[in-house]
Amino acid sequence: MALKADKIRTGDLAMTDHKKKHTGGCMCSSVRYEVTGEPLEVGYCHCRMCQKILGNLTGLFAIFEREGFQFTKGEPNFYRSSHSKQRSFCSICGSPPTMWNADKAIQNHVGILVGTLDHPELFPPEKYSGNHSGIESQVPWFQIKDGLPRWKTEEDPLYIPPSGDA
Ligand SMILES: [Zn+2]
Ligand SMILES: [Zn+2]
Repeated sequence: MALKADKIRTGDLAMTDHKKKHTGGCMCSSVRYEVTGEPLEVGYCHCRMCQKILGNLTGLFAIFEREGFQFTKGEPNFYRSSHSKQRSFCSICGSPPTMWNADKAIQNHVGILVGTLDHPELFPPEKYSGNHSGIESQVPWFQIKDGLPRWKTEEDPLYIPPSGDA
């Protein structure tokens, strides 16, 4: 019995140690990616740039360590949407899977659009330090009904001021 229990425990430990791999891609599957580990944060952004580029009122991003991320199929195009951020998009279907710092030197994180993940249901913001950023552009009738923290773009802990790189 003891031996069996030990075996099970070791097995569980191995499972926990093994970094989880998540996959996703654009709508037409020309661009695919994978990322290992768990998100540091899953948060909404209501800024005008996200609204324009996503064609929606808000975007939900899962922030992962950049080193665990790679494109596994296809070559996305990139668009520099601000002084500090660069977004990828599929040249065929237009789906925008990622955003990261345009400056490679500080490209520590990747923001993955949760809707492009194969299992978006695994990333509830409440579980991963969820928040609402860019609320200066929140559309008034789009009501936030959760208790997550809210802040303006410049108040975001991950915000990089314009003087930084550009
Ligand atoms: Zn596509
Ligand atoms: Zn935004």
